[in-house]
Amino acid sequence: MKDLKHMIYFESLLENAYNELVRKAKDDGKIALGYTCFHMPEVLLNLGDCFSVRLRAPNMGSMDIATYYMASSSCEYSRALLERAIEGNYHFLDAMAGVDCCEAMNRCMENMELLETNDPTKENFFWTNLDIPCSDDEDSVTHLIEQVSRNFLKPLKEKYGVDISDAEIRKSVEEHNKICRLITEIGEFRTEMKPVITGSEFHKICLVTYICPKVDVIPYLEETLEEIKTREPDSKNHYRARVTIVGSEIDDPELIELIEDNGALVVADRFCYGSFPGRSEITLTDDEDALTQVCRRYLKDTECPRQCSDHKVQYRYDRAKELTEHFHADGIIYEQMKFCTYWSFERTLASHVLQNEYGIPALSIDRPYRSGTSGQLRTRVQAFVESLEIKMIKARKEEKEKTKKGDE
Ligand code: SF4
Ligand code: SF4
Repeated sequence: MKDLKHMIYFESLLENAYNELVRKAKDDGKIALGYTCFHMPEVLLNLGDCFSVRLRAPNMGSMDIATYYMASSSCEYSRALLERAIEGNYHFLDAMAGVDCCEAMNRCMENMELLETNDPTKENFFWTNLDIPCSDDEDSVTHLIEQVSRNFLKPLKEKYGVDISDAEIRKSVEEHNKICRLITEIGEFRTEMKPVITGSEFHKICLVTYICPKVDVIPYLEETLEEIKTREPDSKNHYRARVTIVGSEIDDPELIELIEDNGALVVADRFCYGSFPGRSEITLTDDEDALTQVCRRYLKDTECPRQCSDHKVQYRYDRAKELTEHFHADGIIYEQMKFCTYWSFERTLASHVLQNEYGIPALSIDRPYRSGTSGQLRTRVQAFVESLEIKMIKARKEEKEKTKKGDE
């Protein structure tokens, strides 16, 4: 396929947290707010002149210092962020909005704050770490509203004079929805059997929307969408199978490239930093305040295993099946960041249930933060693709025999 016009630019934005668009926004006097998890309502980080930056640690090498402060059994994502923070890579931030989502991230935030990894010259800088409920009932919604209002919106207004009114929240939701519609429209091309966008291209485009000011990304997305509409697929299909990825944090295009280089086109991305559920539109009504509806939405739509009541577990299984069918995937790769407690139990159980009860072939893997060079992962993906191929050949053979019998 012809290269997408902005792909090299998107890749350059992913090279550094303080990238060109972030730098431009900061030069224009905008307020950069860091966060790490879906449970910190992203739309509230984009009020007025604020813009959200979901933290990554691109090209991470050694994490020795972070490992010293945390533990080698903490997930590599949390350690990579701490290492980068200690190196001073997030000095451009004006506040850090963490969430009490897991032990590893708590320790990461705690150490970032204790080690004073923020820019000391920013007098208004503030740290917050919200207590996020593990359920989606109305008591939990009330609790989240209280947490967000007291620990995040209040300091944001007091320190930076940001308008936190209902009207501003609705405006931010509108802008968020614009991004979601563009990403969804681009992502829907992955349903086509002759792909006009690869999983790694889509992942890079989607990642950019999490780490750059939204308003500056929209023109690039609009142009890319128009380009994809008329993009000619390759005459020869390079992929032997199609897969859905379900799991924990992935902000690493090299992982998707590794999977695709080994024959499996990634057609659906249900993981933290993926488009499901992070790039689904938020619907607001006029009969209730926007903050309540936003908080409810983030608790209801999360597909994270930290919510473990029966209905949420069932919802996640059904959702994995639904995405697999919608994008015509032949199998699911369940992945987890090594040492992620939530996804280790979810992955083990769900990959078994999806395979044995839903009849969808599943590969279950754990992986380091940067996986591009993992030989073991390569071998496992290759073996999975082969097993999917054998299954497809058998199914075609059975279909032929059935038709033959029908003709006789
Ligand atoms: S796995 Fe859950 S808690 Fe962890 S970053 Fe993703 S949404 Fe947040
Ligand atoms: S990947 Fe898992 S352990 Fe790591 S920060 Fe996210 S939820 Fe926590």
